[in-house]
Amino acid sequence: MLTKPKGTYDVLPADSRIWAKLEQVIRKICALANYEEIRTPIFEQYETFHRDDSDSSDMVNKETYDFIDRGERKMTLRPEGTAGCVRAYVENKLYVNNKVTKLFYFGPMFRYERQQKGRYRQFSQFGLEAYGPKSPLLDVDIISTACMLLKAVGLNKIRVRINTLGDKESRQNYRDVLVDYFSQHIDELCEDCHTRLAKNPLRILDCKVDKDNPVLINAPKINDYLNDVSKEHFAKVLAELDNLGIDYVVDEHLVRGLDYYSDTVFEIEYESDVLGNQNVLCAGGRYNDLVKDLGGPEIPGVGLAFGVDRLILALANENIQIVKPKYLHAFLITLGQSAKEFGLKLIYNMRLAGLMCDMSYASDSLKAQFKEADNNNSMFTLILGEDELANKTINVKNNHTKEQVTISLDELLGYLIKNLNTCHNCGGNCHEKSTN
Ligand code: AMP
Repeated sequence: MLTKPKGTYDVLPADSRIWAKLEQVIRKICALANYEEIRTPIFEQYETFHRDDSDSSDMVNKETYDFIDRGERKMTLRPEGTAGCVRAYVENKLYVNNKVTKLFYFGPMFRYERQQKGRYRQFSQFGLEAYGPKSPLLDVDIISTACMLLKAVGLNKIRVRINTLGDKESRQNYRDVLVDYFSQHIDELCEDCHTRLAKNPLRILDCKVDKDNPVLINAPKINDYLNDVSKEHFAKVLAELDNLGIDYVVDEHLVRGLDYYSDTVFEIEYESDVLGNQNVLCAGGRYNDLVKDLGGPEIPGVGLAFGVDRLILALANENIQIVKPKYLHAFLITLGQSAKEFGLKLIYNMRLAGLMCDMSYASDSLKAQFKEADNNNSMFTLILGEDELANKTINVKNNHTKEQVTISLDELLGYLIKNLNTCHNCGGNCHEKSTN
């Protein structure tokens, strides 16, 4: 039997409805905050992601799915959304006539990682990107939009952690101090940190292996090496978060896995053990040089990415239902071949009129067909036999009130539309009221 590749999973119909609803909520939040959708290719030229030999991130070094296509071109399945967005922003010159460009994307990403709960080889991200002036207000725009999404889906157990890496000058000062410090303690650090020391010593600070190591805890803090511009930028970000009433904690060890960040970096965590150390739902920050590095003008950017898979796991864990149970307005069951054939046209016309309906296609017993109507959570069951067909009538059973009436076929549509809104017991709340 063929099976799904390791690190992937199938989203089956019941869960697909949750994904679709979440995407709908995301689109609404993006519209509220004026982020417009961009759809970039799922694969890009290798160099889009592998720009610089000094990049120390695992994602760039060990985890990308790279391949040579039939035209001998080196390609990479996108491991994240930012680089492709920036490439598209530059290639399509979206910066012309736009002071600020605010984009969002939603789609699958690919990383060759060790599979565990909340960590997959194909996963989905929803991301926001804003290119424009290096304003701390844009950082806050991005973070507050992420918080709006979490609020909209009812996920409250979250924590925003934030830090600054400072601008280039501050980071260089800090880097030198860190290299000095960690070099003196190299024997006390894990193997990966030895490599990090040479390539990106800041990343030692968020090493998962050494996280409780006193060498890390006592390491010099970025705050002491920020220049005035960087200090001012970060202070403004925090002040504006306060202003909007968004809670956060400043975490001086937060440096983020990707090497292109500068100034503000942040993560939003789900406060529960259920995802273990995969509890970061959303991560992002400012990248002041990426647009330039990808051949564009000197325009800073700020962005974030949500792991949608993790968001869905968190919603399930909190028992938050964002979708109503699936239902149909009507389900047709028939007796006899001619009723079945007539029925197909009947439901086709009902669908054209905007009703969600289906019928039993198998030649099953009435009992089995009633069960099928039940499984489809149908508001009305329509019963059509040879006699009804001859008399041009149909039996209509309201599955909520259990009332059954026989009406003429001509009246059927009007009857259903009228009664969809008048469910006797609950005023229609058991199902959606509208037919849209
Ligand atoms: P990153 O692009 O590494 O900054 O990740 C942003 C977010 O994407 C993380 O906070 C996770 O929620 C999610 N994410 C990253 N890698 C994976 C993965 N392998 N599987 C599932 N979600 C992931």
